[in-house]
Amino acid sequence: MTDSAPIVVWFRRDLRLADNPALEAASSIGVPVIPLYVLDETAGVRPIGGASRWWLDKSLASLAARLSGLGSPLVLRRGASLATLTELVRQTGAQAVFRNRLYDAASIARDEAIEAALQGLGVECRSFNSALLNEPWEVASGAGSPYRVFTPYWSAARRSAGRVTPHAAPRSLTPPTRPVSSEHLDTWGLHPTSPDWSPGFADWRPGEEGAWTRLETFLDGVVDRYAEARDTLGAAATSRLSPHLAFGEIGPRQIWAAAQAAAHRRGSHKGFETFLKELGWREFNHHILFHQPTTVTRNAKPEFDGFPWRDDPRGLRSWKRGRTGFPIVDAAMRQLWCSGWMHNRARMIAASFLIKDLLIDWRVGETWFWDTLVDADLANNVGGWQWTAGSGADAAPYFRVFNPVLQGEKFDPDGAYVRRWLPELAALDDEFVHRPWEAPAPTLARAGVALGANYPAPVVDHFFARDRALDAFKTLTA
Ligand code: FAD
Repeated sequence: MTDSAPIVVWFRRDLRLADNPALEAASSIGVPVIPLYVLDETAGVRPIGGASRWWLDKSLASLAARLSGLGSPLVLRRGASLATLTELVRQTGAQAVFRNRLYDAASIARDEAIEAALQGLGVECRSFNSALLNEPWEVASGAGSPYRVFTPYWSAARRSAGRVTPHAAPRSLTPPTRPVSSEHLDTWGLHPTSPDWSPGFADWRPGEEGAWTRLETFLDGVVDRYAEARDTLGAAATSRLSPHLAFGEIGPRQIWAAAQAAAHRRGSHKGFETFLKELGWREFNHHILFHQPTTVTRNAKPEFDGFPWRDDPRGLRSWKRGRTGFPIVDAAMRQLWCSGWMHNRARMIAASFLIKDLLIDWRVGETWFWDTLVDADLANNVGGWQWTAGSGADAAPYFRVFNPVLQGEKFDPDGAYVRRWLPELAALDDEFVHRPWEAPAPTLARAGVALGANYPAPVVDHFFARDRALDAFKTLTA
């Protein structure tokens, strides 16, 4: 390292200052630091979806403000990552590029090619772990092979996670001697216009501060209800940290340490272990993504390759719009469309309905979620969809078909979730709120529900669909 040429810190899914190892390493060297974000929409790595673009817009604005406060403004550039980095290095005489690692095959291939090209130009490249408690190669079975089943994975990973000490943000950064040109965020068109479909996203606060507010709110009390109520759809008993984690505004090491400290402070471990185990599923999904990279588009279980999926544009449209006629599925899909987020239990119910009741390929649903979730995350989204389909590593058995009425009655017993997202059913009696087609005509009329007019009749008979799904499954095992 020379003592004057700058170091570029290439931000990607690590949009934070604290406990950001690439930023910390660059700032500790004492040379100027150029923070960079590249909007790369060229072929290769999967482009982010519309809801994630909304989030990225605000998260970058927050990061830019915080970096300016430290003394070195964020540089925004658009284009192919390699060409953009090469150009920036040429313009600034940078001696090194530091980044935090990503774990999907396309990003790894791109990053390795960039590293080789930059090293060929005499630019040092270093990479770090900001996103995981354990990187995928750090947890292995006794035989040294990757895990494919969650429980043994988590007992090994949980042990090695131990006590973690996250690092604070740098106090200041040395800016480059000459200012570096940057594009303007508002020219990137990340916020939707014509139409602006995002008013329902107003409750979110993208950025590092918003992430900490969520975490603190959760650890200050919501966590007490987590173990019992995390599956109750109307209870707001989960952390809602997922988009902050997906964009790296907060990291799992920080969450882990804060959770342990809060448990100690409050003298109660209620809910904490269950919460940490859910973070474990995120870690496990990254483990699978890294060790079985083709599972992004291919079934983890190859016997599913011949599955007789149906092409059903009408059913698919009704699912996307939250108009299947099954209230719990429709409430879930409208929560997604309106707020960019969906409760985990609702994700399982909605995904199961698409895959098993409509027999539509899990990849179609995964793509829709990718576009509409603010927390869209390749490892978790593919993991969630393959788990529900039964085609994934350590998946739910295919023959476990959720009954959407019973799921609704169990996880939304007072109908609060359905009434919140489906106002047209708000006045329906509890008895029928999850099965409006069984309600007597006067009950429907009293509640102002006109089936087939202001709320649809079911697009499919669940018991017929269930048998059809099980028959389709038999063709695999035959
Ligand atoms: P909490 O219950 O508070 O959990 C804390 C954190 O642990 C979450 O933020 C998340 O990072 C992790 N976590 C929790 N549950 C799971 C889980 N089942 N699998 C993996 N990680 C978990 N999660 C995403 O982050 N992005 C996705 O794109 C995504 N797609 C999904 C698709 C399907 C079909 C399913 C069934 C699940 C998907 N999940 C996804 C997992 C899960 O639904 C969300 O992480 C969770 O609902 C986020 O809410 P929360 O932050 O309040 O979670």
